[in-house]
Amino acid sequence: MQFLCDFHIHSCLSPCAEITMTPGEIAKVCVSRGIDWIAITDHNSAGNVRVFSSVLQEVGVSVIPGIEVHTLEDVHVLAYFPDVSSAEGYSAFLKREKLPIVTIDPEISGYQLLVDENDSFVGMEEIWLGQPASLSISETLKTVEENGGISVMAHIDRKMGLIVQLGLVPEECIEVPMEISFERTLKRGLQTKNIIHSSDAHSLDLIKPTVSISASTRSFEEFKTAIFSSGRALSIIWD
Ligand SMILES: [Zn+2]
Ligand SMILES: [Zn+2]
Repeated sequence: MQFLCDFHIHSCLSPCAEITMTPGEIAKVCVSRGIDWIAITDHNSAGNVRVFSSVLQEVGVSVIPGIEVHTLEDVHVLAYFPDVSSAEGYSAFLKREKLPIVTIDPEISGYQLLVDENDSFVGMEEIWLGQPASLSISETLKTVEENGGISVMAHIDRKMGLIVQLGLVPEECIEVPMEISFERTLKRGLQTKNIIHSSDAHSLDLIKPTVSISASTRSFEEFKTAIFSSGRALSIIWD
């Protein structure tokens, strides 16, 4: 089967995302745009992934629980987990051990909203999620793997992406799949086998099918196989 996917979407928990990024609204958008499979990837937290998984499942959309980790190098790394509990476990580890206790004024830095199944806001994350966690890129890759997840270097050709921040692909990232924002980046001779393209939507209008995956089911194993298939089971839908 072919599944239309977008594996990088922020919810209303991310301080930079719009507060309309709720489970009910994102479910409606996915259904209307024919999207079968998404990932929720908030900055440094999986606080909303459980509710998104259950609401989107009701409309036939599968959710991979994710976190967009902000590393010490100011590089974003997407961490994808096999189930909600693993994502929540990693999120708890970040909050407990790796996120400095810095609070924000939401009126200035943005609201970090926890939401329920009825799209009601039920809480607010106090610790600033837009700051770097005390983890290097290599520590992030290692700890995500130890928690059963896989890492993808986020938007490598934009701000907070590997190539823009560091100017090169370090040794430890060579085998890591890369998320590319612009088709033109491919023409510059990028040396990597596994690439993906996602919307990185912070607002509803930006959610769209960005990859088509050929798989028998929408399981995490099939996701992993497609991501590491050197493009055989994954085709990119450019704008
Ligand atoms: Zn990012
Ligand atoms: Zn993002």
